[in-house]
Amino acid sequence: MERIYIGMGSNLADPAEQLRSAVDSLTQLPSTALVGVSAFYQSDSLLPGQPRYTNAVAALDSTLAPLELLDALQSIENGQGRERLERWGPRTLDLDILLFGDRLIDEPRLKVPHYHMQERAFVLYPLAELAPEDLRLADGRTLADLLAACPFVGLERLSHA
Ligand code: ATP
Ligand code: MG
Ligand code: MG
Repeated sequence: MERIYIGMGSNLADPAEQLRSAVDSLTQLPSTALVGVSAFYQSDSLLPGQPRYTNAVAALDSTLAPLELLDALQSIENGQGRERLERWGPRTLDLDILLFGDRLIDEPRLKVPHYHMQERAFVLYPLAELAPEDLRLADGRTLADLLAACPFVGLERLSHA
């Protein structure tokens, strides 16, 4: 059993509802228990001209293999109408594996820890609601170190539901 953190994001078709629906699907994954879900946060898109994003993080305990989990997450994304038209385009649902136990994964389809998590406030602040601040990444930095280097700017914390 490993503790896994999933970053969730949406900026199309009622983003909060997309995230609630995704959480519902996470509870139905085989060999997996949903441990927690952060509050929802809103922020402006990193790219201009897109609607605002709603983001959250979920914690799972699972015995799935990493690529099995990635397959399952991608089928949840597809089931919620995810279209991949352009890189970083607007999306109904994005599910990224942020951390998978203390594994370092470097495969063509899967890099863990997620390579952009350290500079993304919309990932780190919801993650900090679920993970201990002394959680250590493979490079030796703790979650507290990452938070200290990533100001809470442009984020709005919404209520849970
Ligand atoms: P970003 O990765 O910058 O957040 P994105 O989430 O919009 O961008 P996607 O279009 O969702 O990117 O995914 C592109 C590919 O990234 C996927 O097909 C998947 O194979 C790969 N990928 C690599 N590492 C991960 C990871 N940790 N979690 C999810 N997908 C990953
Ligand atoms: Mg992403
Ligand atoms: Mg993604």
